[in-house]
Amino acid sequence: MKDTLLPLLACPACGGELALTATHREAAEIMTGSLQCKPCRADYPIRHGVPRFADVANDERQRETAANFGAQWLVFDEVQSHHEQQFRDWIAPVTPEFVEGNFVLEGGCGKGRHTRVIADWGAQAVIGVDLSDAVEAAFRNTRDLPNAHIIQADIYRLPLRQEFDYAFSVGVLHHLPNPRGGFTSLVKHLNPGGAISAWIYGRENNEWIINFVDPLRKTLTSKLPTRWLYALSYLPTIVLSLALKLIYAPLSQTSLKKRLFYSNYLCYIARFPFREIHNIVHDHLTAPVAYYIRREELADWYKEIESVDYEIAWHNQNSWRGFGFLAASIKSGEAKHGN
Ligand SMILES: [Zn+2]
Repeated sequence: MKDTLLPLLACPACGGELALTATHREAAEIMTGSLQCKPCRADYPIRHGVPRFADVANDERQRETAANFGAQWLVFDEVQSHHEQQFRDWIAPVTPEFVEGNFVLEGGCGKGRHTRVIADWGAQAVIGVDLSDAVEAAFRNTRDLPNAHIIQADIYRLPLRQEFDYAFSVGVLHHLPNPRGGFTSLVKHLNPGGAISAWIYGRENNEWIINFVDPLRKTLTSKLPTRWLYALSYLPTIVLSLALKLIYAPLSQTSLKKRLFYSNYLCYIARFPFREIHNIVHDHLTAPVAYYIRREELADWYKEIESVDYEIAWHNQNSWRGFGFLAASIKSGEAKHGN
């Protein structure tokens, strides 16, 4: 971790201030050390450059949740260039200008590819939080950026102060045991007038996944060893890729598009490389927990936090992206840019 992270942290148990002890440094990073809570004396280690606030090995719920994500992120340990456009689509209407100069929190950062993009867009600081061992990859993928920070923590017990102007979670909340709880936990760390984005699987239009893919995932594929599932998922990936290249890509610009099965989404991913298609197939087969959430339900999350100006939009007719501000007299994004 970098020294500049310390003022943003707080003890997840009592909210107290933390005292940093660095035992090994590499350039700007504290690679090994500890963070001790001044009021309650709880001790949190820093290992491999990452502060560790979760006790994943000894907490069954955390272990299961981490297992939902961890293995795949270690397999797909790289940041690819086409991910930025995909990310923009997931967090629209948020733009680089909105993020610039702000404190940003990411709930479920995986290997850190979005953390990296936000840091590149000029955030004052971005903290990527993940419960799983993916933090190892996320740290490697972002350590060169002075404004990017990675911590290992439970989204329900964030070791953070209330300092953030913007929080987002992309493709993560629907894999939590309590998606809405994860959302409200992120909101607790927003400044008044702060904003939050959430991108989640939709229930609408996904009946075929819920009826056919989900039972297979729950009873079989999520229980397979990661390497086996990774290899096995090549088979459906090859079939899907052929359909995308031979049918969806050529017809996506024609009037026949709307006659195709699941056309908005499949036309969208038709331009992705094979490796990314494999990633998507693998993702749908690997997670032990996946919720498919209705538009109204996501709207309720925003209503519950008394969000103002919130908007919920379809993404490829199969998922929802939500964006909204917390109530405050002035919106932080506009205030900081003098509008
Ligand atoms: Zn404490």
